[in-house]
Amino acid sequence: MFSITNPFNQTFLSEYQYFTDNQAISYCEISKKTFTTWSVATLANRLKFIKNLIYTLSKHKDDLAKQCTLEMGKPIKQAVAEVEKCISLCEYYMDNAPDFLSRKTIKTDGAESFVTYEPLGVILGVMPWNFPYWQVFRFAIPSIIAGNTVVVKHASNVAGCAIRIEELFTEAGFPDGVYKNLLISGKQVNTIIDLPYVKGVSLTGSEKAGAAVAAKAGENIKKSLLELGGSNAFIVLKDADIEKAVATAVTARMQNTGQSCIAGKRFLVHKSVYDTFVDRFKTEVQDLKLGNPMDEDVYIGPLARIDLAKEVEEQVVKSVEMGAKIIIGGKRDNAFYTPTIMTNITTEMPVFKEEVFGPVAPIIPFDTFEEAVALSNNSEFGLGVTVFTEDIEGIKQKLHLFEEGAVFINALVKSDLALPFGGVKKSGYGRELAENGIKEFVNVKTVYIK
Ligand code: NAP
Repeated sequence: MFSITNPFNQTFLSEYQYFTDNQAISYCEISKKTFTTWSVATLANRLKFIKNLIYTLSKHKDDLAKQCTLEMGKPIKQAVAEVEKCISLCEYYMDNAPDFLSRKTIKTDGAESFVTYEPLGVILGVMPWNFPYWQVFRFAIPSIIAGNTVVVKHASNVAGCAIRIEELFTEAGFPDGVYKNLLISGKQVNTIIDLPYVKGVSLTGSEKAGAAVAAKAGENIKKSLLELGGSNAFIVLKDADIEKAVATAVTARMQNTGQSCIAGKRFLVHKSVYDTFVDRFKTEVQDLKLGNPMDEDVYIGPLARIDLAKEVEEQVVKSVEMGAKIIIGGKRDNAFYTPTIMTNITTEMPVFKEEVFGPVAPIIPFDTFEEAVALSNNSEFGLGVTVFTEDIEGIKQKLHLFEEGAVFINALVKSDLALPFGGVKKSGYGRELAENGIKEFVNVKTVYIK
C-alpha cells in the first residue's frame, strides 16, 4: 500500500495497492493475446485509433493537466502544454508513420531485395514522474503504431496520471491489451522482463533504475532503450547575443521547476560577458513567480516530493561548504526550493559533478573555447549542449568536439517530434521520436530474392 500527497501543501490525495505478481502477469497475458490481432491489423486501421486518442486527449486536456499538477506540482500552464505536446506527437506519427514503416527497396546483386519493419511483441515501458504524460506517450505511441502492444510501469507518485492514461486508451476504443497500466513497484519489474513474450523494455529515469533494468534485459537477451539523466552545459561564447542567451537560459533551467533531464544545468559563460550575464540572469530569475501550481501565472511550483527537494538542498549545501557562493535563492520550504544562482564553482562540487534535479543554476566563467568544451565534456552524462554564438558557420565546424546526443545552437535543448532524441555516456542509449524512435522496437527484416 502506498499513498500520494500533494507536494504543494502535503495534503493526502489517494492510496493505492500494488498489483500482486500474478495480477500483473494476468494483465501482460491480455497484452500478449491482443498482440496476435493488433500486430496484423493494417497500419491504416491502427491509425484510426490514434485519431480517436487525439480527440480523447483534447477533450480531457484540462482535467489531465490538473491531475498532473496535483500529483507532482507542475505549474498548470506547463501541464496543459504537456498534454498538447502529446496531441502533437500523435499527429506527427499519424502523418509520418506510413512512410517510416513502408517497405524499403535496396539494390543488391539479387533480383529483388528489401527491408520490412515488423512488430516484436509486448514492450514494457518504465516511466518517470517529471513529464508524466509526455514520457509515456513518447514511448508508447510509436511502439503501438508499429504494431506492438505495451505494458507500462509508471512512477509511483503519479499513479493517478498513469491510470488516466489507460482510461484514455479505453475511451478511444483501443482493443483491451494494446495499452495496459501495471501498478507495480520497481522491484516487480524484473518479473515482467522475464516473461518470454515481453520482447523489449524502454526506461526513462535515473541511472540506477536504468542499470538494473538493462542488466535484467541483458540476462534475457532482450532489447533495452535507456533515457537517463543529464547535466547539460549551456555555453555562452563572447560573441553571443546576451539578451537572447539570458532569456533562453532562464527557460532552459527553470521550466518544470528545474526537473527536466535536458535542462541546462551548468552555465559556462565567457569571462568577457560573465558579469553582464550573471546580473541579467539574476534579474530575470528574481521575477519568476513561485507559488500554488494551480495558479495560471505561477512559473515555479514545488518539487515533486519533499525528499527530492531535500536532495537538491543537500547538493547546494555541500557545494557551499566547498566554496560556492549563492547569488540568490538556496532556500527550501517543504517541497519548495527557491530558484537559485551560484558562482565560485569548481568541477568537484555536487552542483557541477552531479545531476541537480531542481531550479539551481551554477555559473562558471571560461577563457578559451577549448576550455568551454573541456568543461562541457567534463560530465558522466551526454544528453545535449546549448551553444550561444553569432558565428554559426564556425561552430558547425566544431560539433564533433561535443560528447552529446544533441547540440542546439542559440536555442535550449528540447525534444522536437521530428528529431531523434537520446543520449550517450551515462545518459543512456537508443533514440526516441522521429523515424529512429518508431524503429527501436521492430524487427528490421531483410528479404533477398535471387
Ligand atoms: P527513477 O527513480 O529512476 O524512476 C523512474 C522509473 O523507474 C519509475 O517508474 C520507478 O518506479 C522505476 N524504478 C525505480 N527503481 C527501479 C528499479 N530498480 N528497477 C526497475 N524500475 C525502477 O527516476 P525519477 O526520479 O522518476 O526521474 C528522474 C530521473 O529521470 C532523472 O535522472 C532524469 O534526468 C531522468 N529523466 C530522463 C529523461 C530522458 O529522456 N533522458 C527524461 C525524463 C527524466 P517507482 O516510482 O515506483 O520507484
